[in-house]
Amino acid sequence: MVSRVLDATAFYAGIPFTSQSTHYVTTLVYDEIKHIKKNHDALQILINTNRLLVKQPQTEFEERVKICAKKTGDIHSLSEGDISCIALSLELNTELISDDFAVTNVSKKLGINTIPLMTNGIKIVGKWIFYCPACKKDFSDEKNCLLCGNKLKKKLVKTK
Ligand SMILES: [Zn+2]
Repeated sequence: MVSRVLDATAFYAGIPFTSQSTHYVTTLVYDEIKHIKKNHDALQILINTNRLLVKQPQTEFEERVKICAKKTGDIHSLSEGDISCIALSLELNTELISDDFAVTNVSKKLGINTIPLMTNGIKIVGKWIFYCPACKKDFSDEKNCLLCGNKLKKKLVKTK
């Protein structure tokens, strides 16, 4: 079975909870998503059953991603978590599930196959919200944070 790396957007979309496949997640992304209390038990089950493997990429792969992202101009759009996801995909030579434009762009340059959430064969009912990675504030459709000017990132939230 093919294992894939998940980025934070894939996690927020609930991919690991609705799939029987084994997924990899980086330590940074795991730290970012494990605070989601409602998913806490589900997360623990995934870990205990080895359907979710937490792994930190080696530094040399992160360096390769950063060099590439500087060339493509995506470096400022990428969080440390984003960089770690791309680096882990590179290291494991596996596909990356992500809907983040900068992540996808840099991955393609590095020869990593990325799979957008919407074509992963999983129907997600939700809406995209935009958030500032620095201020942790949500915005409806702005491109940049109204508080600090950072480029906003987007995540899929399930609608009830
Ligand atoms: Zn901000």
